[in-house]
Formats: sequence, structure tokens, C-alpha cells
Amino acid sequence: MSSPGNPINVKCPTCKRPVAWTPEQVFKPFCSERCKLIDLGEWVMEEKRIPGESLELENDRDEDAFFQ
Ligand SMILES: [Zn+2]
Repeated sequence: MSSPGNPINVKCPTCKRPVAWTPEQVFKPFCSERCKLIDLGEWVMEEKRIPGESLELENDRDEDAFFQ
């Protein structure tokens, strides 16, 4: 019938995955710290830019080596 301690489930606002509403889930209503940061916009601004820029620099170097 009804099981005691059955956790309430909510949906993570970022990735829409079910999240158990428990004291252990410190990032609720998000499923993880990453989803929480994505929602706040911090992850997009700080981490998404850096890999794209370094990739472009590497491509330029490869072209120089080809012409020499
Ligand atoms: Zn999530």
C-alpha cells in the first residue's frame, strides 16, 4: 500500500530528470550542482568559452606548420 519514507520526486528545472526531495539532496530542486550552476548562468559564462577559444588557437598553429 503506502510505503513509509517514500520520497517526493520533483523535476530538475535544467535537465527535467526526477529528483528525490530528500535532506541529502542539497542541490534540490536541481539534480546536481552542475544543473544548478547552468540555471544561474555561471557555468555558461565561465567554462563554455574557454575550450572554444583554445581550440581556435590550436587550429592556427597547425596551419602555420603546414606552410613551413
Ligand atoms: Zn539536472
